[in-house]
Amino acid sequence: MAVSLQFMGATRNVTGSCFLLEVKGRRFLIDCGLYQERELRSRNWEPFPADPKSIEAVFLTHAHLDHCGLLPKLVKEGFKGKIMCTSATAEIARIVLLDAAHLQEEDAKFKKKRHEREKRKGPYPEVPLYTEEDAKSVFPLFTPVEYEKAVKIIDSVEAVFYDAGHILGSSIIKINVSSGPVSLVFSGDLGRWDKPIIRDPALIEDADYVVVESTYGDRLHEDLSEIKVKLCDIIISTVNQGGNIIIPSFAVERTQELLYYLNELLQENRIPHLLTFVDSPMAINVIEVFKHYPEYFDEEMLNFIQSGRSPFYFSNLKLTRSVEESKAINRIRGSCIIIAGSGMCTGGRIKHHLVNNIIRPECSILFIGYQAKGTLGREIVDGASEVRIHGQMHPVRANVVKINGFSAHADQRELLRWLTGFRSSPKRVFIVHGEEEAATTFARILNEKFSWQTEIPEYLEKKILI
Ligand code: ZN
Repeated sequence: MAVSLQFMGATRNVTGSCFLLEVKGRRFLIDCGLYQERELRSRNWEPFPADPKSIEAVFLTHAHLDHCGLLPKLVKEGFKGKIMCTSATAEIARIVLLDAAHLQEEDAKFKKKRHEREKRKGPYPEVPLYTEEDAKSVFPLFTPVEYEKAVKIIDSVEAVFYDAGHILGSSIIKINVSSGPVSLVFSGDLGRWDKPIIRDPALIEDADYVVVESTYGDRLHEDLSEIKVKLCDIIISTVNQGGNIIIPSFAVERTQELLYYLNELLQENRIPHLLTFVDSPMAINVIEVFKHYPEYFDEEMLNFIQSGRSPFYFSNLKLTRSVEESKAINRIRGSCIIIAGSGMCTGGRIKHHLVNNIIRPECSILFIGYQAKGTLGREIVDGASEVRIHGQMHPVRANVVKINGFSAHADQRELLRWLTGFRSSPKRVFIVHGEEEAATTFARILNEKFSWQTEIPEYLEKKILI
């Protein structure tokens, strides 16, 4: 057994991405993600299936928590190697990990209080999974790589990162092992073609083994062209009624994309110049990261910038960092657009804006992202007549609208388009990062369409490749 691959996460579910590659006893991780599904979160607390001290390097596909969110725990438990990723991934991961650590600390405090009050113990300890200090100890290990330039990690192993088109800095990673030889491609999260700002996913021509995500392996997205039409309709109808447009949004990528579309609609004179607030310090920090990496932008975005404009600036756009500025938004008269986090309304400033606007029938709450079961966002989308926010019930009288086309993930057709790039059949395709139904449907399609050998690995399943 010279080369093996063990599936340590994102097996028949969509979070906790983590794969262990072993080459003649030397160990490498591809991603180290946090579990976010309620029923799998206990895995975050379990010891790593492989001793962190024995791992030599991590190859990180991108900065979403379900791919990088357990790095602080890995480092806390003894990992000392390099974390190879693009510079943009490292910068965004810093923001994301600090925010996650802060939430973990808050959560632990809240749990402690509740357990004391109820005189009981919960299933998880009242200590944070990791602290801000733990998150900071990850940062010195980030080692920047450039797209499409091979990096040798040990004599027999080199990695090449390609643009995945999912979020800024996101990567598909190809690993070439000279003993064998054998090559593996990890799709990471695959993006979509013709999305604004970032480039399309890169096509890879050959690999012995492909590990591909399947989040939307059984579904097709709404057309991207629908986004602007719907945005425009909602804004104009809400302004005509004299209400505000409240948009819960994820800080990474989604907010920046939304600003891009709003900017285009303004340029095209299709919407009025409303006061528009990005009321999220985290989203504002990510906007700054975007400004550092014009080399990652697609042609359309570069033309936009070369014409002297910026998608992250338009008249009446206000980026509010301080709490005072945020509170002052409530005193605005007339219609405005308020973009705030968290994206599923589980915390953050969006809750205050919902309290102030959800009861007003002239206002609109616009959802542009996936709302998981059990979140406040999901309750509102599902049509609850009243919802609890900050401990009080509020009737839902505002207009609730959803735009589905914003997804950062390739849909079934786009996953197939990416796989069509392989000139010869891989020996095997491992299907990960998808619910059971999505992964199974996608495996069936691959068998029918390409006659490829596919597998949907189980948690901790280990495959000997050569
Ligand atoms: Zn992702």
